[in-house]
Amino acid sequence: VTDTVVRDREAAELVLPAVRVLGGPPLDLTVRAGRIAALTPAAGTGRHVVLPGLVDMHTHLREPGGADAETIATGTRAAAAGGFTDVFAMANTDPVCDSAERVRAVQALAAATAVVRVHPVGAITVGLAGRTLAPLAEMAAAGVTVVSDDGHCVADPGIMRSALELAARHGLTVAQHAQDPVLAGAGQVHDGPACRDTGLPPWPSAGEEVIVARDVVLAAHTGVTLHICHLSTAGSVEIVRWAKARGLPVTAEVTPHHLMLTDELAALTDPRFKVNPPLRSADDVAALRAGLIDGTIDAVATDHAPHPAAAKARRWIDAPFGMTGLETALPVVARVLRTGRDEPDWSVVAARMATSPARIGRIAARAGRPVAVGEPATFCVVDPGSPWTVDADQRFSRSGNTPFAGTAFTDRVVATFVDGRIVHGALAPLASRIPGATPR
Ligand SMILES: [Zn+2]
Repeated sequence: VTDTVVRDREAAELVLPAVRVLGGPPLDLTVRAGRIAALTPAAGTGRHVVLPGLVDMHTHLREPGGADAETIATGTRAAAAGGFTDVFAMANTDPVCDSAERVRAVQALAAATAVVRVHPVGAITVGLAGRTLAPLAEMAAAGVTVVSDDGHCVADPGIMRSALELAARHGLTVAQHAQDPVLAGAGQVHDGPACRDTGLPPWPSAGEEVIVARDVVLAAHTGVTLHICHLSTAGSVEIVRWAKARGLPVTAEVTPHHLMLTDELAALTDPRFKVNPPLRSADDVAALRAGLIDGTIDAVATDHAPHPAAAKARRWIDAPFGMTGLETALPVVARVLRTGRDEPDWSVVAARMATSPARIGRIAARAGRPVAVGEPATFCVVDPGSPWTVDADQRFSRSGNTPFAGTAFTDRVVATFVDGRIVHGALAPLASRIPGATPR
């Protein structure tokens, strides 16, 4: 950990001089009493870009039960460092978050220790076992807006249909981890030429696509919204594109690692590249990028999955699936969207990383809000011109299992605000605290 937690630092009034909202012309941004009080034209050229606070629909905070990998305190500090102001905490903790009581326990832990806002995800089935629906109504009443068995697929189509119907009655989004248990089985690497020589169990694209296709059909027949986690194949992108062309209520997310890394890395059998779904082919990466740009894929979600160093030091077959992602998501997405341009289209970054995930997660009244006068001062500040290299030891997450260690990036989050509170970043180089009015 390279910084102390700054969750209680108050910014009664401050001005961020010459910042570019969504990459637009330079403005002085005034924060007062937790809100954006003014945006006024600034002289000269601006450097820093202001985006809505990022929203991660898919974070594994590991608490309760996995404090050797992450806690709500360390995971949300990592989130703040990555520009995230809101994270959805997946239910595959120990114990599983599958009742209102468990939801309230996570909320209480978050209230005591979180640096950014935590939205507990409820399990779809009791114990993530895929057999009996969890009490979705009571979890919704406790404040849950998204349910998911992530880590496991809801494989039984009858259970999935019932989950969609019940979720619709209680205003919940159902997020599916698409992995057919027969076709994907115990697969560990993409079933393609790059990994064939590893001898590791294959995880074919069809194992994902048959569930995506099946659930799109269920969404069509029930009329209920379906969200698909971490798309990883070109075929999945095509199915979602087909569904959207027909106006079906389907949304989808992609991870930063699936947008940038291929199965050539998995073929090295270094467990830091072991993730579920697996890294896939260059053609899949290209299709995911195209889907993200054209809006077929609504959102980027990190699937931040911290693991202790000892667990990832095992040989591939015994090491756990997962990569950290909160602290590197924005630079990866900015790089992907920068291709062939001087700067990424920051409005697309904001749409895929803030606005859309807030909408899908049903928290749009509070999160993913525009950077505009009168709105809560909940945003992040990006320096788009400071080359840096990821050092796995310089981090806020308790775990360092990042696939991007040693990778050079151009864009970096330098500050994050939640309701005017500075939850990440040193203010001094960025802003001047000015009592009363801005001098001009
Ligand atoms: Zn998953």
